[in-house]
Amino acid sequence: MGLEAFSNEEEKYRKWQDQQLAEWEARCGCCGACCGLVDEDPCEHLVELQGHRYTCQIYENRFGLHKTRNGRPFKCVPLRDILHTSWPGDRACAYKKHSL
Ligand code: SF4
Ligand code: SF4
Repeated sequence: MGLEAFSNEEEKYRKWQDQQLAEWEARCGCCGACCGLVDEDPCEHLVELQGHRYTCQIYENRFGLHKTRNGRPFKCVPLRDILHTSWPGDRACAYKKHSL
């Protein structure tokens, strides 16, 4: 394979990866359950959008140690790391439903 053909394939693969990531992210129902909303002591970075939808204020830098609104420390981890576990409200999680 020539250099130009290789570059084209690499670009196609990168676009495919971006598309897969966008599709994965779009599945989130923004219910806030994985951020402690159903526990009634959610993460301090969880904010409400319109229509009972929630988002993370620091989404791009979310992983690591944070506090709940009541000051309890916890670690935010990638969803795939907890998908096999249970948490309050997880039945509403779009990723859980998709993986069943
Ligand atoms: S830091 Fe993590 S737990 Fe907190 S709102 Fe953002 S994604 Fe949710
Ligand atoms: S529980 Fe699932 S659907 Fe709800 S906000 Fe978290 S990742 Fe999104």
